[in-house]
Amino acid sequence: MLFSKALIPTLKETPADAEVASHQLMLRAGMIRKLAAGIYSYLPLAQRVLQKLKIIIREEMNSIDGQEITLPAVQPSEIWEKSGRWNIYGKELLRFKDRNNRNFCLGPTHEEVITDLIRREVKSYRELPLTLYQIQTKFRDEIRPRFGIMRAREFVMKDAYSFDRDEAGAEESYHKMYQAYTNIFERCGLEFRAVEADTGSIGGSFSHEFMVLADSGEDVVVYCEGCGYAANLEKAEVKPPVGLLENESLKNLEKVHTPEQKTVDEVTNFLGITPDNLIKTLIFDTDKGPIAVLVRGDHEINEIKLKNLLGCEYLLLADDDTVEKVTGAPRGFAGPLDLNIPVYADNILKGATNMVTGGNGKDVHYKNVNEPRDFKTTRFADLRTAEEGDPCARCGKPLHMRRGIEVGHIFKLGTKYSKSLHATYLDQAGKESLIVMGCYGIGVGRTVAAAVEQHHDKDGIIFPKALTPYQVLMLPININDEILRKAAFQMYDKLSQAGIEVLFDDRDERPGIKFKDADLIGIPIRITIGSRNFERGKVEVKYRESGKMELIDSEKTVKYIKGFFNKKI
Ligand code: ATP
Ligand code: MG
Repeated sequence: MLFSKALIPTLKETPADAEVASHQLMLRAGMIRKLAAGIYSYLPLAQRVLQKLKIIIREEMNSIDGQEITLPAVQPSEIWEKSGRWNIYGKELLRFKDRNNRNFCLGPTHEEVITDLIRREVKSYRELPLTLYQIQTKFRDEIRPRFGIMRAREFVMKDAYSFDRDEAGAEESYHKMYQAYTNIFERCGLEFRAVEADTGSIGGSFSHEFMVLADSGEDVVVYCEGCGYAANLEKAEVKPPVGLLENESLKNLEKVHTPEQKTVDEVTNFLGITPDNLIKTLIFDTDKGPIAVLVRGDHEINEIKLKNLLGCEYLLLADDDTVEKVTGAPRGFAGPLDLNIPVYADNILKGATNMVTGGNGKDVHYKNVNEPRDFKTTRFADLRTAEEGDPCARCGKPLHMRRGIEVGHIFKLGTKYSKSLHATYLDQAGKESLIVMGCYGIGVGRTVAAAVEQHHDKDGIIFPKALTPYQVLMLPININDEILRKAAFQMYDKLSQAGIEVLFDDRDERPGIKFKDADLIGIPIRITIGSRNFERGKVEVKYRESGKMELIDSEKTVKYIKGFFNKKI
């Protein structure tokens, strides 16, 4: 491609409203442009990168017998009503009416549509298992679209769905998909981890998120180097402590006056203690009534763990009235002593000695509270959010944390949708059974953004080989020098004929500008043709990633480039 003919509108300045590097660089490199909040146009460079990723995805999906389909983006409300999601999906679902006043939505995902299709088309066990996928535009009216195409409202997703006769088959489909995802992100040259994710009511460890590691990621990946355990922060389990933590002798319970001291900071400062000597008591409203939850003052409660433990649909911090009703005190003074509601405590509080808690009265706290001497606990469980250095639940070694970007998510659905949408098949004995499903997503645009987020420097993007829009950027120092111009065009033809993807910067610009754009766009190899070197039969090769430069024989350029791209890393 000739740069002079390409639509690559690079920008010198960093756009003010772009917060993260990938968003800034994709705008500056002329890859994307915003049309409205969270809605983007993909320009030629982005299109080429997306295309490369889609090819990798298709190859891996096809290799596990996935069949590509295209489902409608506009979906009628009836199937969403059947699955129960028309009401619970909330404002992320963009709804509208057609001219006949019928309700529709723009598809944010396709479980309903595909289950409805399979319900009609699959009748017998002989037609199962089946895996179908599509690469298609989704719409989610995200509350805070941000980071460019990383969290957009309109975005491209690869979504796949598996249909099996039974649980064992569904697990096999899941594992195949896990391996295909691993291959995809490895082939993209990304540093990533597959982490266990929360499965909510379905349970088990049949959900993994694929996280690209990057400091700007919105998610936190918790991992153990000892045993390889990895989970997202919502799910990461902490090993319960063994035996009593402290050997202090139990002191006598003491009521203290704590006027207006409500928060952990206020109470600990007032009493001259540290937060690990305090028990934080939180009152929650649930569909099973109010409950109290205890965590140590320096820990954070993990509501997902709590919700899973209780098996409840609804869980929310109680309002002031409820707090007052169940504790007899305004917010800020709750404690576990003499409470008449179920009390759930984090494992670390088992046998805790001489702690401070709220006193269930205005301006009252207790000192020297001891478990189990002074209060009853309904149940101990792992209820806090893991922290750096906490012991791994599997092997006890310290947990570590890194930030990540969720690029893929695989999920064993079971019969959730086949039940509500009546997708059944006749088994060998002629009995009607529910189809067991899995669903699997990759954010195609988000993966490209994550690749830029992980691979860039102060000058611009550093494309991984597999995703780069072009393999080589060719840059003659002076396009007006006739000899050089001719030589450059000859080399361009030669490389192109050899099947190498070349972006040829034939613009009549100063070399400084061209070099800057080359670094910004981030093509792995830059070949500079200057008259002095060229007279000696040499061209200069610069590697974008290492910045290393060398002179090579211009005759050997094709071989050289091919060698570079054939090497895996
Ligand atoms: P998130 O927690 O980031 O909102 P999600 O759990 O809603 O993601 P899924 O429903 O599992 O996402 O969608 C599958 C994949 O689609 C995600 O792993 C992600 O890569 C991508 N994705 C989801 N929402 C967006 C978005 N708003 N913009 C771009 N990609 C997205
Ligand atoms: Mg989401």
